Amino acid sequence: MVGESMRRVTCRCHCAVCGRHFTGLEAFDLHRAGEYRERRSCVSPFDELRLASATEAGYCAISGEHADGKPLTLDPVTVWVSSRQIGLEQRARFAALTLGSTL
Ligand SMILES: [Zn+2]
Ligand SMILES: [Zn+2]
Repeated sequence: MVGESMRRVTCRCHCAVCGRHFTGLEAFDLHRAGEYRERRSCVSPFDELRLASATEAGYCAISGEHADGKPLTLDPVTVWVSSRQIGLEQRARFAALTLGSTL
């Protein structure tokens, strides 16, 4: 049995500008900088601490790339997730709370 226990991470929010892959709108929004939609630009997830790599072996079926008229599934790709969504931020907050309560 291969892959049964592994969660397959797919790109659900594809950035047409930089071609990066995200698990959802929240993560996508984090890599967009700037106030106005037209002026917004992409930030490298490596420079954005609120983004974490969900997997480096993800799939993307919404890149818009085609081969012989057939939509291509890109694989493997790095799919980014909001670190809040995977609990990193929550854990940090919890640690801070715990620390505070002992004072
Ligand atoms: Zn982008
Ligand atoms: Zn994608």
